[in-house]
Amino acid sequence: MEVAFLNLKKAYAELKRDLDHLWQDLHNDGAYILGSRLGNFEKEFSEYLGVKHVIGVANGLDALTLSLNALGIGAGDEVIVPAHTFIASWLAISESGAIPVPVEVNMKGYLLDTSKIEAAITKRTRAIMPVHLYGRVGDMSKISALAQKYHLKVIEDAAQAHGAFESISNRKAGTFGDTACFSFYPGKNLGCFGDGGCVTTNDDEIAQRVRLLRNYGSKVRYEHEVKGKNSRLDDLQAGVLSIKLKYLENWNARRRKIAEIYLKELLGVGDLILPADEPGHVWHIFSVLTAQREKLKAFLTAAGIGVIIHYPKPIYRQLAYQNTLAAKMRFQNTDKICSEVLSLPMGPHLEIEEALFCVQTIKTFFK
Ligand SMILES: *Cc1c(COP(=O)(O)O)cnc(C)c1O
Repeated sequence: MEVAFLNLKKAYAELKRDLDHLWQDLHNDGAYILGSRLGNFEKEFSEYLGVKHVIGVANGLDALTLSLNALGIGAGDEVIVPAHTFIASWLAISESGAIPVPVEVNMKGYLLDTSKIEAAITKRTRAIMPVHLYGRVGDMSKISALAQKYHLKVIEDAAQAHGAFESISNRKAGTFGDTACFSFYPGKNLGCFGDGGCVTTNDDEIAQRVRLLRNYGSKVRYEHEVKGKNSRLDDLQAGVLSIKLKYLENWNARRRKIAEIYLKELLGVGDLILPADEPGHVWHIFSVLTAQREKLKAFLTAAGIGVIIHYPKPIYRQLAYQNTLAAKMRFQNTDKICSEVLSLPMGPHLEIEEALFCVQTIKTFFK
């Protein structure tokens, strides 16, 4: 049996009728950029999340960079970021001119260890960027309290957490920070057919600034108030996202069903460490830890099962950051996660039989 890591063909098949209509409509009205589809999606997603503003941009990295720009964070500033994340979180900080200051993650959810944030705060610290990695929301009340105490901004990287929520407050990812950033990369829980992203905020002024920056610094055509860039979510992608947003809750529930099978069936198998369950987790990624990661990966691949490592090399060990302070830092948990983590097939279109085949193959490996 071949099991894809993520099956996007089946996602298309389920929505084909709506998507084909969108394609026709789009060419009928020819509103490809900054049209009504973008406005409609921004409104729908803001209502879904429970946040005042959603501003569509070109991708998740731009959402993060534009957030920092709009908050006036740049050269000479420091931003606290998890040691373990996708590199985009760090790159956005670097692109803004600020310095990413990594803080270790915990082993409970592989998220920012909030007990270690305070020690990393200096006179230059301007913001904390928590990342809701793998689909799990971190301890946002603790992070908000720290931000308040030290007068810091909070920028959520919610690129892996569409629909995820904090179980104590029931608040969704994307509603806690001064801004929050989503990616609509095809493989995300809410993904379009190319690159896409958005910034969310409850602050009218920040929203205005991001709107300006994403469109050449211009509100009125050929009037340029600031040196902005071209980072717009195009109307085709916005139209796709409006269609898919209606399925997000249902598709996240299907991911949960798969996660529950893995959690039940893989408990106590080999040396596997399974992710902790939580009601608000949307299982963007189902990651296990094992000291035999490379062997297990090869075994599953040979059996036709698609697995991926998120992520194999800590950012502070990457060439891109070799000439920075971070290159001299070492984080025990992050190193362990990067050397032991493996992501199993996951997605709304993964069949139960496919998940059970993965389970069976993993059990065979450890026998
Ligand atoms: C995907 C992702 C991003 C970047 O999104 P793009 O749309 O690919 O630019 C940022 N942060 C995290 C945690 C991500 O997973």
